[in-house]
Amino acid sequence: MQMHRLRVRGRVGPPAHTPTMTIQYRLQDLRWPSAIFLIGTVLTTLVGLPIFLYNFGGQINWWLHGAMFVGMFIASGLSITLGYHRLFSHLSFKAKWPVRLFTLIFGATAMENSALEWCSDHRRHHKHTDDDDDPYNIQKGFFHAHMGWVIFRPIGGDVPLTNVDDLKADPVVRWQHKWWGVIGIGVGFGLPALIGWLAEGGVGAVAGLLIGGVARQVMVHHMTFFINSLCHTLGKQTYSTKCTAKDSWFMALFTFGEGYHNFHHEFQHDYRNGVKPWQFDPTKWSIRVLEKLRLVSNLRRVPNETIAVAEIREKQRQLDERLTVHKETICEKAQRLFNEAQEQLTAAHETWEASKKEYTRAMRQQLDTTKEQLGELKQQMEQSVLELRQAIRDWHSAHQGLVLQLA
Ligand SMILES: [Zn+2]
Ligand SMILES: [Zn+2]
Repeated sequence: MQMHRLRVRGRVGPPAHTPTMTIQYRLQDLRWPSAIFLIGTVLTTLVGLPIFLYNFGGQINWWLHGAMFVGMFIASGLSITLGYHRLFSHLSFKAKWPVRLFTLIFGATAMENSALEWCSDHRRHHKHTDDDDDPYNIQKGFFHAHMGWVIFRPIGGDVPLTNVDDLKADPVVRWQHKWWGVIGIGVGFGLPALIGWLAEGGVGAVAGLLIGGVARQVMVHHMTFFINSLCHTLGKQTYSTKCTAKDSWFMALFTFGEGYHNFHHEFQHDYRNGVKPWQFDPTKWSIRVLEKLRLVSNLRRVPNETIAVAEIREKQRQLDERLTVHKETICEKAQRLFNEAQEQLTAAHETWEASKKEYTRAMRQQLDTTKEQLGELKQQMEQSVLELRQAIRDWHSAHQGLVLQLA
């Protein structure tokens, strides 16, 4: 059947990839300190901690250590998602120095490298997703994307930090790059041990080190690693099939909202990952609270209409696929209505994009534009967005009509 494809920016790609590359790790590329640390902390949590609790569990205050575990997990985890990720890697909002300092200190306690190194890797992940230059490329297998890339040096050696010059200009970031290891060990392991020692002496110190320190750090490690592995494996591709990133509410539950990874890859500069109001995204909520406290500003948001059009593009791809694969027949009237709705949407989207561009250009060159002209352009833009919203609604009802026939 003849389908008019909605012309929108970005390509309509094939369905999700499945891992295709095999990777051969070489012993000479093993980063010994990282491997010993990663395996050592997991073993300490899984074996050492239960033995300690079996022998000394009766002598410690579980409430104190439980609170330290949760508090440190939130401080450390949020510093990665809100700080390292959305603030420093994607510049999705601006933050005053107390927020930058806090997230850099507690980000270091996750023991995931300095912010500069982390952001450099992450920016390459977005630029080369699923390709050879993606440091945690899921095409090289689940283990590689999860932690193999941390343990083994990439073939060709470490990549220089050339894509984070903007961050190097920040003295707080430069300071953290130099001292992150000391900060990470001192605050991440030393602080809970010190609090435990002050409350309960030697046994409390060991409990603080093992629970609020090591076990908490292992949890943050694997929470972050799952974003690179499971969030490129499980879930829905709501906005795009250009890459393997997936949306998963389940993953969002224990990644501070980072589970909506398909949205994030499509609109990486948006401060939200769970963009819908009901989606679980504590990082987004924390950024909003900080905005109310005037500690952050300039939150970047993709317009709702652009998001809706991306969603439509994906639904249309699925429909095209279904019609091609199953050769299903549909009545001519529903098909005609759907084609008309698609054409209207394409036209409304193009008009809106053009009027937005014109208004932005006029705003930039205010000296050459009269107030009346500006007002007129603004009105045109507002009118075009109303028409686009109507076209989106019409597309959805025409799509529903068509899908009902296929049901
Ligand atoms: Zn990703
Ligand atoms: Zn990202």
